[in-house]
Amino acid sequence: MDTYDVVIIGGGPAGLAAGIYASRAALKTLLLEKGMPGGLAASTEIIENYPGFAEGIGGPELMMQMEAQARRFGLEVKSANAESIKPVEKIFAIQTDDGEIKTKTVIIATGAQPQKLKVEGEEEFHGRGVSYCATCDGAFFKDKIVAVVGGGDSAIEEALYLTKFASQVHVIHRRGELRATKILQQRAMNNEKIIFHWHSVVEKIAGQSTVQEVTLKDVRTGETDKLNVNGVFIYVGTRPVSELVGNLVQLNERNYIITDENMHTSRPGIFAAGDVRQKTLRQVVTAVADGAIAAVSAEKYIEENLKP
Ligand code: NAP
Repeated sequence: MDTYDVVIIGGGPAGLAAGIYASRAALKTLLLEKGMPGGLAASTEIIENYPGFAEGIGGPELMMQMEAQARRFGLEVKSANAESIKPVEKIFAIQTDDGEIKTKTVIIATGAQPQKLKVEGEEEFHGRGVSYCATCDGAFFKDKIVAVVGGGDSAIEEALYLTKFASQVHVIHRRGELRATKILQQRAMNNEKIIFHWHSVVEKIAGQSTVQEVTLKDVRTGETDKLNVNGVFIYVGTRPVSELVGNLVQLNERNYIITDENMHTSRPGIFAAGDVRQKTLRQVVTAVADGAIAAVSAEKYIEENLKP
């Protein structure tokens, strides 16, 4: 079995950009992705702030182009789940659900997953009105009433998207002020279909075969109120997918991987890129930058430490 120069785990923007740079540098590179390449960016209807596309570009299209570009330079893509990484002498053995892979370096680009709200009814109605992806499920709510929970970029962007289908979109936010960028805030405030519920949290999601209502609590007064809705879209942030390397590299208190500016983790030979990393701006544009840097750092590492 050949040893790879670089194995990238995760096929979102960070992983694919690392794939483009590593393959183009003629490193023997494999990208492992347990689902479809594209990451969370592929479930965004339109990406407006990725430079180079004056009118914006669809998330799925941008990600398909990145994958095609990486494959053009010779990136191998394997559909498999990485289960463990073990340092073996100077290299690494990655155990997957489809056999073992040996590599000189690893780039962790596993991204982040939507955070759960952890309220009654959330699990029970997941897929029956509760969703974490408006792009995937929005069309099921034509002329229906939906709630969006959260006040960040994702919540407001997806609330706006849902107004294309739903007759009314209730945005439920725990504070009196949104976290989302101003341009999104303004669009949402000017949209007649969006109704804001400030200082409110969801206490319970209820229904019969599908969602029928949410119970809201005003965090200032403790008063509760019921809202009839057919769907609940939850956007209360993300959590890093860092379990795979939790015992190998240093994580911060919220489990994000700590790297230096060259994407080195605390363990030589393992690099991290994109949303899984401790950083202040989680965007496609910063993920691809991380990926490029990680690939170049991996190349340098091999050059300096593993050349025969
Ligand atoms: P986020 O920025 O962390 O926002 C999470 C929102 O959920 C916040 O408004 C937070 O309230 C609220 N929240 C958190 N826990 C909650 C709970 N238990 N109950 C009720 N509300 C809760 O997450 P995000 O919107 O998913 O964005 C993640 C990252 O991706 C951000 O860096 C964002 O800028 C980026 N992003 C960018 C774009 C874009 O540029 N177009 C689009 C999507 C995402 P508080 O405000 O009170 O903390």
